[in-house]
Amino acid sequence: MDALPQALDGDELESTDPATGAIVGCVRMTTAEGLDAMVGRAWHAFHHSGWKSLLPHRRALVLQAIADRLAAEKEALATLQMRDNGKPLAECRGMVESAIGTFRYYAGVCETLETDVTPSRGDYVSFTVLEPFGVVACITPWNSPIMNDATKVAPALAAGNAVLLKPSEDSPLLAPELARIAREAGLPDGMLQVVQGRGAEIGAALVAHPGVRMISFTGGTATGRAIGRVAGDRLVPVALELGGKSPHVVFADAEIEHAVAAVVAGIFGSAGQSCVAGSRLFIEASLYDEVLARVVERTRALRVAAPDAPGVEMGPLASFHHRERVIRFVDRAREEGGRILCGGSAPEGEGYAKGAYYLPTVIDGLPPEALTCQEEAFGPVLVALPFRDEADLIAQANGTAFGLACGIWTESFKRAWRVGRALEAGSVWINTYKQSVTTTPFGGFKNSGIGREKGIDGLRLYAQVKSMYFGL
Ligand code: NAD
Repeated sequence: MDALPQALDGDELESTDPATGAIVGCVRMTTAEGLDAMVGRAWHAFHHSGWKSLLPHRRALVLQAIADRLAAEKEALATLQMRDNGKPLAECRGMVESAIGTFRYYAGVCETLETDVTPSRGDYVSFTVLEPFGVVACITPWNSPIMNDATKVAPALAAGNAVLLKPSEDSPLLAPELARIAREAGLPDGMLQVVQGRGAEIGAALVAHPGVRMISFTGGTATGRAIGRVAGDRLVPVALELGGKSPHVVFADAEIEHAVAAVVAGIFGSAGQSCVAGSRLFIEASLYDEVLARVVERTRALRVAAPDAPGVEMGPLASFHHRERVIRFVDRAREEGGRILCGGSAPEGEGYAKGAYYLPTVIDGLPPEALTCQEEAFGPVLVALPFRDEADLIAQANGTAFGLACGIWTESFKRAWRVGRALEAGSVWINTYKQSVTTTPFGGFKNSGIGREKGIDGLRLYAQVKSMYFGL
């Protein structure tokens, strides 16, 4: 991104490495005047850069070039993300790879996307064309910055829009790198600009800006609701990818060893800071004690360490203030009467003293309506619940406001099908968990969101349909 004139730059925003507390970088926050200038520049680029009228295969070449450059800088980007939000380096590498795949996929979709034609009805023929909105806002959270940014930016650009990308104030360092790489790969100036700063201030100004024609948001449900209200008032389309409290279900006939490994990875991967974390574990009552004991044993054995330590399985939380939220969440679980089976505190020892570490925590003994079982911790906290039969499971598992994902472990195909259809979730994993491919749509039921990202729908999100009729 070009530097804005100084008067349009705001205060500095620092990024802190949650593993050490050290400052790893800083960006300038965007002021209200700076935002106006960016929106103006984005519209100028949209109308005059030629991007929207490029033939699809030419647009695809630039998206492929962005993917190539991301691949060339993979190690540096993964390391930067590790410092920016504390995820283990191996996970950060995976996220850069996901971003690369996303740009390649939408390069392909952009070349092959077809629209509808209704053949002649006598004296006319009709067909549809897809048109970009113009300037769109993409707002992302801190948990997987490069991956979430790519999931929005690649299809939005593929559809021909100019993008204002607003990363979280807690992980501001990756978005400017993506914008630089895109420009170096041939994306015209102004087509991808980065808005930096606090959500309640510049984020709110961005969604309310009259120059923004579509909003794509990933983050918490309360923020999504606030953005939805503004979008409703302005009558601009909005896509919302929100929180979750995903059930991970183990039936007595499951392959227990695989199920236990997946349950532990499904919640403690990314230190639980994943929208699809399987944060409620449902175990069929007849095997409850046995499966829970194995989950606790495996959780206790997880290697919590610096994100670049060999063999690390869980790093620190993404920030010190987020750790405070997790501490309060577990304190409340205790007040509700929950039994802390492992974890429940920060780890002790010199290696942990300076970082935002928290031990992976397993809780049980709570009723399904307890707040601990209802609200998202967005941290390494798993709550276990027994179920009697399918009907009991479905009632409990569907008994939250969320509906993002679920996992089901059973050897019975018919049961997997029945339960998978009955659970209110946008993604259902059967005998696997947290798999994700760019070709398959992703999004939530109920309070977990509106709209679907990824897949071809992920590009249509950023396009409006125009129906055209030709008299013959
Ligand atoms: P958040 O809602 O606090 O912030 C997300 C983004 O919105 C940030 O960039 C923030 O600056 C901005 N923002 C905050 N208030 C705003 C406002 N009023 N107007 C405009 N922008 C505003 O979420 P977070 O703490 O960064 O991320 C954690 C949440 O994200 C969790 O709930 C998690 O489940 C969710 N999440 C969902 C998905 C998904 O795909 N469904 C993926 C990752 C994370």
